[in-house]
Amino acid sequence: MSERRRIYEGKAKILYEGPTPGTLVQHFKDDATAFNNEKHGTIEGKGVLNNRISEYIFTRLEEIGVATHFIKPLNMREQLIKEVEIIPLEVVVRNIAAGSIVKRLGLEEGKSLDRPLVEFYYKNDDLGDPLIGEEHIAAFEWASRGEVDDMVAVALRVNDFLSGMFGAVNIRLVDFKVEFGRHWEGDVVQVLLADEISPDNCRLWDMTSGEKLDKDRFRHDLGDVLEGYQDVAKRLGLFSSISPTKPVLVS
Ligand code: UDP
Repeated sequence: MSERRRIYEGKAKILYEGPTPGTLVQHFKDDATAFNNEKHGTIEGKGVLNNRISEYIFTRLEEIGVATHFIKPLNMREQLIKEVEIIPLEVVVRNIAAGSIVKRLGLEEGKSLDRPLVEFYYKNDDLGDPLIGEEHIAAFEWASRGEVDDMVAVALRVNDFLSGMFGAVNIRLVDFKVEFGRHWEGDVVQVLLADEISPDNCRLWDMTSGEKLDKDRFRHDLGDVLEGYQDVAKRLGLFSSISPTKPVLVS
């Protein structure tokens, strides 16, 4: 088989050229990083779980009319996506105070916010992804005002949908990060939800015990990282329990 052309390699994913123009293959790795690359690790099986969880979430979002880059699953670690020009922003939605906002504003972790908070960070590793405001986005032309309005609306819609979806399986959606990209079809450009949505970029707490089931397990050495991700996949019905010792992901 001829070697596929690698378009981009990030911390947790690789993008390869897709089978047809305008498509890419998104490959999920087992690598994990935290604290702006200061901490590195490999969590065997994480890529398989994130591929499946993200595929499930993007499919559900498409069903309610959210336009995403997802086309179809390919294999255990890969999915076919539409090629987009990534907008250099991380859009974070918070329902409960945790992580960087706790430190920045001196809040108590776990405090419910009166309403969901949407924040923008400028995607730039050298600068440590700084928090920015909408005026910076306009001033430096990272996105148009219309695109910002669309991103906020979609991010809040995703938050409502995911809060319900996770709530139904006794998981609290504390916060999450999404990214968007521009997709051209001829002269028409559309902003699509891109990247991934998985326990790598959400905070997910068990509603009863408060147990953390997400990447904070890796960030803060809280215990078996994969087990948390597997628990999320199981609760979403993405695991078949053919064998209790060797669970198999269902498609
Ligand atoms: N997040 C992410 N990638 C980043 C930064 C944050 O996926 O580069 C996610 C993170 O997992 C959490 C949310 O965005 O669900 C808010 O993260 P926060 O700003 O609290 O930063 P952290 O303290 O996690 O670095």
